[in-house]
Amino acid sequence: MEFKKNDLLTVTIEDMGHDGEGIGKCDGYTVFVKDAVIGDTVRVKLMKTRKNFGYGRLMEILTPSPDRTEAPCPFARPCGGCQIQALSYEKQLEFKARKIRNNLKRIGGFADEEISMEPVIGMEHPFGYRNKAQFPVGTDREGRLVTGFYAGRTHSIIPNRKCLLGVPVNETILDTVLDFMEEFGVTAYQEDTGKGLVRHVLIRYGFHTGQVMVCLVVNGTKLPHSQELVERLRRIEGMTSILLNVNRERTNVILGSQVRLLWGQEYITDTIGGIQYQISPLSFFQVNPVQTEKLYGKALEFAGLTGGETVWDLYCGIGTISLFLARKAGKVYGVEIVPEAIADAGKNAEINGIENVEFFVGRAEDVLPEKYEKEGIRADVIVVDPPRKGCEESVLDTMVKMGPERIVYVSCDSATLARDLKYLRERGYEVKKVQGVDMFPETVHVETVALLTRKAQ
Ligand code: SAH
Repeated sequence: MEFKKNDLLTVTIEDMGHDGEGIGKCDGYTVFVKDAVIGDTVRVKLMKTRKNFGYGRLMEILTPSPDRTEAPCPFARPCGGCQIQALSYEKQLEFKARKIRNNLKRIGGFADEEISMEPVIGMEHPFGYRNKAQFPVGTDREGRLVTGFYAGRTHSIIPNRKCLLGVPVNETILDTVLDFMEEFGVTAYQEDTGKGLVRHVLIRYGFHTGQVMVCLVVNGTKLPHSQELVERLRRIEGMTSILLNVNRERTNVILGSQVRLLWGQEYITDTIGGIQYQISPLSFFQVNPVQTEKLYGKALEFAGLTGGETVWDLYCGIGTISLFLARKAGKVYGVEIVPEAIADAGKNAEINGIENVEFFVGRAEDVLPEKYEKEGIRADVIVVDPPRKGCEESVLDTMVKMGPERIVYVSCDSATLARDLKYLRERGYEVKKVQGVDMFPETVHVETVALLTRKAQ
């Protein structure tokens, strides 16, 4: 049967794609349906067709799946932040385990029985977990200021100041900033023209300390009447740091490289597993502190430290994993590309009185070979925690040359993880264990930590 655009079909959802979309069939024709969950029977309108598959818009749920739940956020469907709020949490965790396993099989070439994996570690309360949020500021059709989240795949702003993944203080801060902008005629940045001032409001919150950071990203070097804004923001409980970030580029990248202090200090402090961390606006810090402790706990367990080991922590950010491991290691070396993060890492070692760590600023692909080949620094254990694109081959090559007993790979993208594990497996390493940790409930993202050991020669 031929299907064409705007046809209405009835589809039973039998699978879910990696982006959380429902997948079903109608007369042998595969249809992808965003917002439909496994087990739903739905009425869809075909929006786009290809020869063997098409994309349908969910029009009506005819029979809801037993795994469907009422999404608590009224914006769950249009918002680009969450993809699977309508799926029960238990099934979300199963979906993530499948995603990791499928990637390891499809991309990594692993057989099912070679993958030793426990269920994904979930949260008791899978909402209100984020310690950081970046809200775009713009104007709606009537020219009124709006802030919230981008709709899926677009840059139109859904005016939701009450994201359920974030903390309640976000809303108070956003109300304060927008009221201030209205009152003093401060403009919002317009992406299409490159005009206007305020681009984003970045908020960070320390779950254990209650400290709050607000950073306004502006298309300029100054914020008019900024003292007025400071007066209002500093009344908010926990306010510790009020900053301006200068970003005058026509780009999707949210933060520029220059930060100016408006009030308070330039960082906030939080703790994970009893270690204090100072966090600057430009530094990476895991967004889910409750799960981060479980993730780092796994990394520490997999590292199998007994006290004397030399450990490398590549892509170390502000030294979070490095300091976590240092208590059980002989010496830890951290490598990170962002200078501000390395400055934080050094301070973090100091405030925690940890002396057996050393940090290097630079690309892992440059620093690691230099330190190994020129200075002869070796490794018993190497931990890597790269961004989504995974490790460069040259980094993996140096790791293999260094020949550590164990490699612990922490990954926020199981597709690139699978690619890199395959590479390491072909060069003398065995994948012993894989563990998913749900750092991002209600979304399709999942963090994975894998343990590799060197095969006996
Ligand atoms: N391990 C840290 C940070 C992980 S995020 C934590 O758990 O908090 C990945 C980090 O890698 C970021 O801080 C990013 O700035 C850094 N990074 C990205 N590319 C890099 C490269 N080529 N070499 C070293 N660090 C890099």
